[in-house]
Formats: sequence, structure tokens, C-alpha cells
Amino acid sequence: MSESKPATDPILSVENVDVSYGRVNAVRGVSFSVPEGGLVALVGANGAGKSSVLAAVSGLVRPAAGKVILGGRDITRWPAHRRVGAGLVLVPEGRQILGTLTVAENLRLGAHRRRRHAAPESEMYELFPVLAERRALPASALSGGEQQMLAIARAMIARPKVVLLDEPSMGLAPKMVDEIFTVIEKIRASGVTVVLVEQNARRALSAADTGHVLETGEIARSGPASELLKDPKVVQAYLGVE
Ligand code: ATP
Repeated sequence: MSESKPATDPILSVENVDVSYGRVNAVRGVSFSVPEGGLVALVGANGAGKSSVLAAVSGLVRPAAGKVILGGRDITRWPAHRRVGAGLVLVPEGRQILGTLTVAENLRLGAHRRRRHAAPESEMYELFPVLAERRALPASALSGGEQQMLAIARAMIARPKVVLLDEPSMGLAPKMVDEIFTVIEKIRASGVTVVLVEQNARRALSAADTGHVLETGEIARSGPASELLKDPKVVQAYLGVE
């Protein structure tokens, strides 16, 4: 039980994880931990291995080495659905919502994945008013930003303990990016732990407590997000000039 553990125990730890696709070593020796209620950002260039780390954490790939620990339990060998049941839910890159189903049906699928814990649909419509207005529409009729909201809502309806967000701002207009980050702040404020993967390093680090910079499959830098935002090497490589 989490209540009996010291508050400093991380809810999620990734320990020396390697991910390989055949001969491609996409992730090498990656370790980081996330305190309960924290927001950790993984940033880095295209192909640095960010999605592969989330795939290992969510159970979509089996790491070639290393461990994933959730709430003190070694879940490295658990299938993805069991991790969802334990409250670890991924919002995948590219959203992967079902376009022919309505908004409401997509939400119900999300709830079905964690039936005993799921939130009522109405709670999601409060958090995402834009979805309330569109609940009877096929998801394919939504804009890119609305589809991203739906993908996040489909995860949140399962009342996750930890949510893994893979590039939620990808391809969205600046105003929509703002809305997505407002939602991420709300999720975090509700006590849910967040692991945020982003190429938009400035936005991600501005929202996070802690950041890790991935370079060609390895963690090149880690630290308080506010310090990474000022780190000359990070600024030069990932944040550009303002
Ligand atoms: P992006 O932002 O483009 O998604 P990323 O940082 O998330 O990048 P990954 O998608 O994890 O990076 O990719 C890391 C490396 O692994 C890349 O070299 C990529 O080509 C390779 N890779 C990813 N998925 C596979 C796969 N299924 N099979 C083979 N190689 C893969």
C-alpha cells in the first residue's frame, strides 16, 4: 500500500533500460524516476528514443535489459493491458483514436479498459468542454487539436495513476498547443503523475519539475526543468534563440 511507504518513494522508476529493434539499439541504459504527483519531461530530437522509452514503460515493447518499477512492483514482464489495469496509461503519438466511432464511444472504450476505476463520462466533458459539444460526432470529424483532447480524455477516463503523453502538441496550431498544455497542468493539479515526451522542449520543460534530455538513445542531461531551461548546451541544441 502506498500509504505505508515513505513519501519519497517514486511511483515509477525506469532502471537501466535498453530497447532494441533487431540490430538497432534505440535506447541504452536509460534510468529515471518519477515521484508521485510529479511531472517529468523527456525531451530530445527526432529519433532520440523518447517514444521507445514510453513503449518500454507501457509494455508495448519488452526491454532488452533493465527494469520498470511501478509503485514498488517490478512490472517489466507485465503485458500492456495489465499495466493499464494498474493505472499506467499511455496516450500514444499520433492519437490513435477510432475515427468511425463517436467521441462518446471512444471515451467508453477508454473506460472499458479499467472498468472498476473508470470515471463517469460527464467528468471528462467537464474537463474537456469541447468534447461535450461534439460527443455524438464521429471522432474523424474533429480537428487535430480536438482529436488530441479526445486521446487524452480516453486515457483520463480510466483514472490513471500515471499518464504517459507522447508528443501531445505535435502538428497543432499554437493556440491549440496552449490548450493542450493547460489540460496537462490540470491533470497534474488533480494529482496524476505525468511523463511528458515532447519535441517542443521549451514548453515541456516549462511545465515540468524535472527534465531528461535524450540523445541517440541515452540520457545526456537531467535536472530540475528550470535549470535545463537555462543550461547553455540545452538552450543551444533544443531551445533555439529567442
Ligand atoms: P520521434 O519524435 O521521431 O518519435 P523518438 O525520440 O520518439 O523520435 P523513437 O521513435 O523512440 O524516437 O526512435 C528511436 C530509434 O529507434 C530511431 O532510430 C528509430 O528509427 C528506431 N525505431 C523506432 N521504432 C522502431 C521499430 N519499430 N523498428 C525499428 N526501429 C525503430
